[in-house]
Amino acid sequence: MSENYRAPIVVVVGHVDVGKTLLLDKIRNTMVAYREPGMITQHIGLSYLPWPIIEKYAAPVIERYRLKGKVWVKGFLMVDTPGHAAFSNLRRRGGSVADLAILVIDLTRGFEEQTYESLILLKSRNIPFVVAANKVDRIYGWKPIPNASILDSYNAQDEETQGRLEEALANIIMDFNKQGFEAERFDRITDFSRQVPIVPTSAVTGEGIPDLLVLMAGLTQRLVKDRLRLVGGPGKGVVMEVKEEKGLGTTMDVVLYDGVMRKGDTIVAMGLNGPVVTRIRMMVMPKPLDEMRDPEDKYMHINEVEAAAGVKVIADGLDDVVPGSSVYVVQGDPKPYIDEVVKDAASVKIETDQIGVVAKADTLGTLEAMVLYLRSQGIPVRKADIGPVTRRDIIDASVVRRKNPLYGVVLAFNVKVPKEVEEEAKVQLVTIFQNNILYRLVEEFTKWFNEEKS
Ligand code: GDP
Ligand code: MG
Repeated sequence: MSENYRAPIVVVVGHVDVGKTLLLDKIRNTMVAYREPGMITQHIGLSYLPWPIIEKYAAPVIERYRLKGKVWVKGFLMVDTPGHAAFSNLRRRGGSVADLAILVIDLTRGFEEQTYESLILLKSRNIPFVVAANKVDRIYGWKPIPNASILDSYNAQDEETQGRLEEALANIIMDFNKQGFEAERFDRITDFSRQVPIVPTSAVTGEGIPDLLVLMAGLTQRLVKDRLRLVGGPGKGVVMEVKEEKGLGTTMDVVLYDGVMRKGDTIVAMGLNGPVVTRIRMMVMPKPLDEMRDPEDKYMHINEVEAAAGVKVIADGLDDVVPGSSVYVVQGDPKPYIDEVVKDAASVKIETDQIGVVAKADTLGTLEAMVLYLRSQGIPVRKADIGPVTRRDIIDASVVRRKNPLYGVVLAFNVKVPKEVEEEAKVQLVTIFQNNILYRLVEEFTKWFNEEKS
C-alpha cells in the first residue's frame, strides 16, 4: 500500500525555548540506537525518520494501541528549522506543503506569544496538528522513566505529582478553548477530527516521545492520507529559502512534495521581477553525519531526488527568486509552468483600487499568511506586496487616506522601512505599523483604528 505514498512533511512550531530543537535531537539520537545503516537521512532543512525504526522505539505503545501491522506511513520528514518565515514559506496555494504539525508548548509556562502566532498560521493553512506539552520532567516531584510511554510514566507518579500535571494540562486546554479549539489529553480524545490531542513529553528524558510518534502516524493515516498520494512525473516543490553559501554562490532550498528533480532540469520559480526560468547546475544534500569530516565540506552532490525531500539547488538567476514561490520542473513547453508560477504569485500579491490597507511582507509565504489573517479579521487590503516599504506604498496609502483615513495605513511585517520613506509617510500623514509578530501587528493597527474611529 505504501508504494505510491510519500512520507508526510511535519513542521515543528511553537514559542522560542519550548524545546523544539531538543525534541528533534532527542528523537534522532534515540533512534540512532536502533539504527540500521543509512536509515536516518538528513535532507536540507529536514530529517527523515523511517517508520521501521520508530516501530522498535515505540514498540510498547504500538502494542498498547494494537497498531502492529496497521501502520503504512513510511516515516516522517521533520522540518528542523521552522522559524516563522520558513514555516510560512512552506506554502501551496492558500494551503501548506506541511502535512502535519507539532505545536510545542512548555508545560510549565503554558501559552506564550508565539504559541498564538503558530496557532494563527496553523489555522489559516488548515494544517492538522498535535500538541507536545513539553518539559514534563520539570513538573515538581516528577520521577522520570527514560523513553517510556507517558501513560506508564504517569501511572508511576504519586498522586500529588499527577495532580500537578493535570493542572498544567487543564490550563493549556483552557487557553485552547479561548482560541476556539477543543483540546484534550491524547488518551482521552473521543473525536480526533474535532479535538486537538495533547501529549506530555520531555526532550530530556524522552518520555512521551513514543506516544507522540505513534499518534502522528495515526493522524496521518486518518486525516492527511489523500495528500500523500504521489502523482509522479516532473518535480513540484516550494522554495523555502534563498541564501548565499560559501563556495556555492546563491542557493535555493527546495522542499519537493511530488515528482522527481534532476541535475540539468529546467525549472521555473517566481522572482521579484517576474518568473525565473533556469537550469539546475548542481544539487546537494547533507552528507551522512558519520562521513562529515570537515564542517566546511558538509554537502554531497546528487543527480536526482524524489519527493518528498529537501534539497539545495544551485543555478543561475536565483538571486531574484522569492521564498515561498512554487518551483516546477519543466517538461516540454515551459509556458504552462510559467503561467502556473505567475498565477500562484498573483493569488498572493494584491493590487486593487478598493479602500483598504497596504500590506508588506518579506516573502511570498509571510505575505500570504498576512493577507489570510487580515481577511479573517475583516480588514480590507488594497495592496499586498513583497519587499521593504517604498515611497509608492506611502502614495498608495495616502490615496486611500483621502477617502477613508482609517484604512490609509501601511502594515509592515518582517520588512524594513527606509528613513526617507518614513519621512515621506510623515509628510503624507500616513501611519506605518511595524512588527515581526503578525497578531501583534494587527492588534496595534486595530487598537489605533478603534481609537481614531471614536
Ligand atoms: P527551541 O527554542 O524551542 O528550539 O528550544 P530548545 O530545544 O533550544 O530548548 C530550550 C531550552 O529548554 C534548552 O535549554 C533545553 O535544554 C531546555 N529543554 C528543552 N526541552 C526540555 C525538556 O523537555 N525538559 C527540560 N527540563 N528542559 C528542556
Ligand atoms: Mg530551536
